[in-house]
Amino acid sequence: MGISVTNISKSYKNAKALQDISFEVKPNELFGIIGPDGAGKTTLFRILTTLLFPDQGTATVAGFDVVKDYKKIRNSVGYMPGKFSLYHDLTVEENLNFFATIFGTTIEENYNLIKDIYIQIEPFKDRRAGKLSGGMKQKLALSCALIHKPKVLFLDEPTTGVDPVSRKEFWEMLKRLQQKGITILVSTPYMDEAALCDRVALIQDGKILQIDTPEAIVKHYPTSLYNVRSTNMYQLITSLKTYEHHHSVYPFGEFVHYTDTRSDFNPEDLKVYLESKTLSDIQIERTEATIEDSFMELST
Ligand code: ADP
Repeated sequence: MGISVTNISKSYKNAKALQDISFEVKPNELFGIIGPDGAGKTTLFRILTTLLFPDQGTATVAGFDVVKDYKKIRNSVGYMPGKFSLYHDLTVEENLNFFATIFGTTIEENYNLIKDIYIQIEPFKDRRAGKLSGGMKQKLALSCALIHKPKVLFLDEPTTGVDPVSRKEFWEMLKRLQQKGITILVSTPYMDEAALCDRVALIQDGKILQIDTPEAIVKHYPTSLYNVRSTNMYQLITSLKTYEHHHSVYPFGEFVHYTDTRSDFNPEDLKVYLESKTLSDIQIERTEATIEDSFMELST
């Protein structure tokens, strides 16, 4: 009941959206596709949910081929597209009924699966979907994607534009759905959400940079990473970028993340250089890499 993707490519007129993508999602795994805007996430989801044919390659979902068996796949998967799929003029309950009807089922028949999620929006069941908050729309869209009891769930950027509290709740809901035996493929541009997945694929410009557990990705960060801080952030970045030994320099919250090309790098040397550039209150300290740092390293 997993997903298998082999050498999938897809181009639009002006863009190579996916270039020779391969990966496996194990049955009952919570697998993340992590990448920025334009990485190819939506194209991949549309191919796996049979809404778009690949130019090359093959893929199976729950054992069915995405081209030959597309009708069978549509009954076995739930898909929550990035742009909300809801009918804004229909109420909460009407939306859910609509999706249940298309799949030849009823809300009552599968209520058990969506209960935890739907119960939170049920008090607003007569409200039009267009009038719901982002977090509530997201819960309704998830309920609609689940109403026919899919074996595999595809969620394309479900937390984009949703507030941090709702994002956290959403991931907790996903964990509970996984415990009910559903395989989940979820995409997100938020690097911090990678840690909530069993395994992730980091993707950029239609190519997979790395596939592994989030723990292994940061563990294999290849170099020593430093937090650098000074009073003038802009000047700090430009000075670091002109330092002859710099490998990577990018803002990271209140710090600049810095790596050096030398294996025997001594932070004192860098401090002396920065002081010569008239920067003051300079702090340089070692820090642990995050998924975002791994992403930056892999994409340079
Ligand atoms: P993501 O979901 O990661 O933002 P997409 O799959 O939407 O990525 O887009 C991948 C690339 O394909 C981008 O360069 C995008 O501009 C391009 N693209 C996506 N859809 C179309 C389309 N219908 N026509 C032309 N180009 C497209």
